[in-house]
Amino acid sequence: MYHNIHKIEKISHLNDSTFILQIERRDLKFTPGQHLVVGKKDDKEFRQYSLYNGINDDYFQILVKEVENGLVTPKLKNLKEGDEVEINGPMGYFTLSESTRKNLPVVMIATGTGIAPFKSFVVSYPELDYKLIHGVRTAEEAYDKELYAKDKYILCTTRDDKGTVKGRVTDYISTKTFHKDTQFYLCGNSEMIFDAMEILKEKGFSANQMFAEVYF
Ligand SMILES: Cc1cc2nc3c(=O)[nH]c(=O)nc-3n(C[C@H](O)[C@H](O)[C@H](O)COP(=O)(O)OP(=O)(O)OC[C@H]3O[C@@H](n4cnc5c(N)ncnc54)[C@H](O)[C@@H]3O)c2cc1C
Repeated sequence: MYHNIHKIEKISHLNDSTFILQIERRDLKFTPGQHLVVGKKDDKEFRQYSLYNGINDDYFQILVKEVENGLVTPKLKNLKEGDEVEINGPMGYFTLSESTRKNLPVVMIATGTGIAPFKSFVVSYPELDYKLIHGVRTAEEAYDKELYAKDKYILCTTRDDKGTVKGRVTDYISTKTFHKDTQFYLCGNSEMIFDAMEILKEKGFSANQMFAEVYF
């Protein structure tokens, strides 16, 4: 397995807690949906982060939310251009098969930074027939929303009225109908993923139409 020291090319702070780390890619290949294992150079703690960039970008990006008193995220947040991280990967199987992305409708359901792999899907596969349902507390967490076609991105906000709809992603999907061949991709916290899968099962979708990446 590849692991090595890579430079930070840029850090962009999107709000008080969330930031994008741009990391030197070199010639490493990845499939959208895969993640890196990242830690500060010479540190013993590592965490997994989905790749946020597109397949043709000549850099890696990860979208990270600082967890208060977390062991790794506060350190990553303090990194500056030119600092170094140790990375392991890319790895993981939360990816779209060629037949899915060319032939089937895909509904992506994310909470918070769980949107990261889906941004990589959308920018890497322009032909993708998708809907992206993003659950956040406030609309300022709608990271890079201008990248998504307006009719394909549904922002569900729980604490303000500035999204497409007010409420949780699970409230939204409860009220909707989806094409019978839809492939559902879910990413974020385990509670949302569990609840959303239950709702989809009640709507008649089978477990083999659902793919999940649990962040915590
Ligand atoms: C495959 C995979 C991909 C991931 N990709 C991303 C990503 O793209 N972006 C990202 O921000 N995170 C991602 N995560 C979560 C990430 O790996 C860390 O768990 C997270 O950044 C917290 O690390 P920490 O060391 O700061 O906190 P820790 O010291 O590990 O955790 C402290 C506590 O916070 C909880 N916690 C962890 N994450 C969150 C959160 N987001 N919100 C609230 N509580 C939390 C943990 O359950 C734990 O109880 C991913 C996880 C997995 C398994």
